[in-house]
Amino acid sequence: MFEKTVEALKRRGYEAVAVATREEAKAVVLKEAEGAYSVGWGGSETIKEIGARTALESSGKEIRDHQTQMDLFLLSANALTEDGVIVNIDGTGNRVAASIYGPKRVVYVVGRNKLVAGGVVEAIIRAKKCACPPNCRRLSKTTPCASLGTCADCDSPDRICKVTAVFDRCPTHTSTLVVLVDEDLGY
Ligand code: SF4
Repeated sequence: MFEKTVEALKRRGYEAVAVATREEAKAVVLKEAEGAYSVGWGGSETIKEIGARTALESSGKEIRDHQTQMDLFLLSANALTEDGVIVNIDGTGNRVAASIYGPKRVVYVVGRNKLVAGGVVEAIIRAKKCACPPNCRRLSKTTPCASLGTCADCDSPDRICKVTAVFDRCPTHTSTLVVLVDEDLGY
C-alpha cells in the first residue's frame, strides 16, 4: 500500500522503505543504530511502541533529550501525505530542529495511521485532530484539546503546536531514512 509514497519520498531526496510490522521497523532502527554512540529520541510514542527505545537503552546506547548533536536521531511524523510531504508540529521546536539540521543521520518511523490522502492542509488537520489532543493528555497539558478532544486554536502557555514544519524535500545536509510501517503506531 506504500509504493506511491515510497517513490514520492525518494523523489524528494529521502531514503525510504516500507515494512509490514513493528518488529521489522525495530530491526531497521537497530541496524541504523549499530554505529551510533549517541541517539536522540524525539519523544516519540512510535519509537517506544516498536520497542526500539528499550532495546537501545538495554544495548548501552546513550539516549539523550538534547538532540541536535546526535549520531542518530529517531522520530515519527504527525502526518505524511501520500505524495511524500512530512508535517510535524512542536511546542519547543527541539524535535523539528533536530530533524532539519545537526544529527549525522535521521530516521523517521511512520505508522499507516499517519498517512493522509490530501495535501498539506489535510496533514495539518490530522496533526491537530489526531496527534495534539492525545499528546496533550499524555503530557498533562491544560489545553482545550486535552479536555475537548478538538483544537480551539488556543493561546494556552501549554500549547504544544507553536511551530509547524512542512518538509517539502529532504533537508540538504541531513541524511534521512523514512520507514513506513503497515501498522497503526503512535498518534
Ligand atoms: S492549538 Fe491548542 S487546542 Fe489546538 S491542538 Fe494546539 S494545543 Fe490543542
